[in-house]
Amino acid sequence: MTDRAPGVIEVLRAEHLAKTYDEGAGRVEVLRDVSLSVNAHEMVAVVGASGSGKSTLLHVLGLLDQPDQGRLWVAGEPTDHLGERKRSHLRNRALGFVYQFHHLLPEFSALDNVAMPLIVRRLARDEARKQARDLLEQVGLGNRATHFPGQLSGGERQRVALARALVTKPSCVLADEPTGNLDRHTADAMFELLRRINQTLGTAFVIVTHDPALAALAHRRLNMLAGALTAA
Ligand code: ADP
Ligand code: MG
Repeated sequence: MTDRAPGVIEVLRAEHLAKTYDEGAGRVEVLRDVSLSVNAHEMVAVVGASGSGKSTLLHVLGLLDQPDQGRLWVAGEPTDHLGERKRSHLRNRALGFVYQFHHLLPEFSALDNVAMPLIVRRLARDEARKQARDLLEQVGLGNRATHFPGQLSGGERQRVALARALVTKPSCVLADEPTGNLDRHTADAMFELLRRINQTLGTAFVIVTHDPALAALAHRRLNMLAGALTAA
């Protein structure tokens, strides 16, 4: 960690990540010598064909999956020798996730879905709900708090999922095709919201997207090609 400018905080740093799946059908090199640095307040887009390794990269960066080789720092902490408990603690403290399909819990209100990561942290329910309400307002859904996921549109569900990712005040949000399931207009609105959150809260984003128009709005674009990551 020697080549960063003074005062710049690195939220993610990966060096020479490699990962191979050994299936009956043969070896698949899913990540090949991937190195990456993401600074606080930065918005990075990762584009690449289906099967190129984008989701695997996000899972590794998000401490949900382990590389076979390489090193990873999250919020400045080396992760190589962390046990499962410390990995999930660091994940809960420093990172947020948004997926293509919102993964909201259908039997909980929007408010309680957003409050869930805080309740997992053992915050008192009233305080968790208070903070969740604040985040729902930030994503423009203050008036949908008592709605259940089934009562919300696709775009609204993704905004609830974003509020849930942000409620723990992560330094970086990892988003896997967060607009992949939305129509053009709703996708544009979602991306505009990501940009505004990036500007107002300073949250860094790594966003996997198929959408060149959306990728163009990020500060930096990276291409994933057969497991290798290069500047676009
Ligand atoms: P993307 O998100 O870019 O579509 P993925 O990271 O999901 O790509 O997958 C990259 C490659 O790794 C694909 O060829 C996929 O089939 C393979 N792969 C992903 N997960 C597994 C797994 N658990 N076991 C075996 N192969 C996998
Ligand atoms: Mg994927």
